[in-house]
Amino acid sequence: MAQIIDGRAVAAYVKGKAAEQVKTLNEKGIEVCLAVILVGNDPASTVYVANKRKDCDQLGIVSKEYALPEETTMEELLSLIDTLNKDSAVNGILCQLPLPRHLDETKVLEAISPLKDVDAFHPENVGRIMMGKYDFLPCTPAGIMEMLDYYKIDTNGKDCVVIGRSNIVGKPMAMLMLHSNATVTICHSRTKNLAEVCRRADILISAVGRAGFVTSDMIKPGAVVIDVGINRGEDGKLCGDVDYAAAEKVASMITPVPGGVGPMTRAMLMCNTVTAAKKQHGI
Ligand code: NDP
Repeated sequence: MAQIIDGRAVAAYVKGKAAEQVKTLNEKGIEVCLAVILVGNDPASTVYVANKRKDCDQLGIVSKEYALPEETTMEELLSLIDTLNKDSAVNGILCQLPLPRHLDETKVLEAISPLKDVDAFHPENVGRIMMGKYDFLPCTPAGIMEMLDYYKIDTNGKDCVVIGRSNIVGKPMAMLMLHSNATVTICHSRTKNLAEVCRRADILISAVGRAGFVTSDMIKPGAVVIDVGINRGEDGKLCGDVDYAAAEKVASMITPVPGGVGPMTRAMLMCNTVTAAKKQHGI
């Protein structure tokens, strides 16, 4: 049976370290502040924003929420971002995605100051990640790297397969594994012989968004399996991309859903906010 990679435990450890840093900054008279913008009433986004507020409260980070109506215009949203960019009391700015269809997501992400871009979605930060010289990493891939580190999972020279090539998960994930000396293959919907490619992986990372997508025959015996997917199974329960019950019999280590990558994504946002505050105060 595979060892469970406990995302909740690693997240608690990472958040504990971030809380200590917040305390040290507070002792210097510096408050750490995250501004979160939510446009519209998407139920999932509303839950995510509430969770971010809880995490901030837990760590002593000031959270400012800007809940804007669905019909908010680009001009209004960009004007708010401009105000937050200029507000020295705000260290991190996050605009919850997805945005309503009439808003241009790319323009919005590009408007956030790279120094306050705690999601690391700004092209300048994306470029820095490519070069391996970065202040912020996107929260999900960064959280996965933290988990690998916590469990002392060696990436050096290992074959890593990432399924998914999105800008927020797949691509940066592949880049971070490359930086940590893995040999990386990125798969997507046009990949041929997907199962065969996946079976080569010492570390298999799935970010597809389909319940039961990764079956046990796609996993090399003894592989480490990281499940990024968040889906609802046929029973309505939260699940990942991986057929967990079958996979845990083949893998050596595996992340569960819930309790795997999700808590780490939340924890890394807090870390990025603390990093932003330190940078802005020259610490
Ligand atoms: P996207 O929909 O942007 O990307 C999905 C990727 O999966 C695409 O690159 C797509 O390929 C690929 N894909 C789809 N079908 C197949 C297939 N049949 N074979 C191979 N590849 C396929 O999703 P995200 O990257 O934003 O998110 C992925 C999942 O991770 C979702 O379930 C999301 O909810 C979850 N997630 C979880 C987080 C967490 O904290 N745990 C954080 C962020 C996301 P192509 O590019 O060719 O279309």
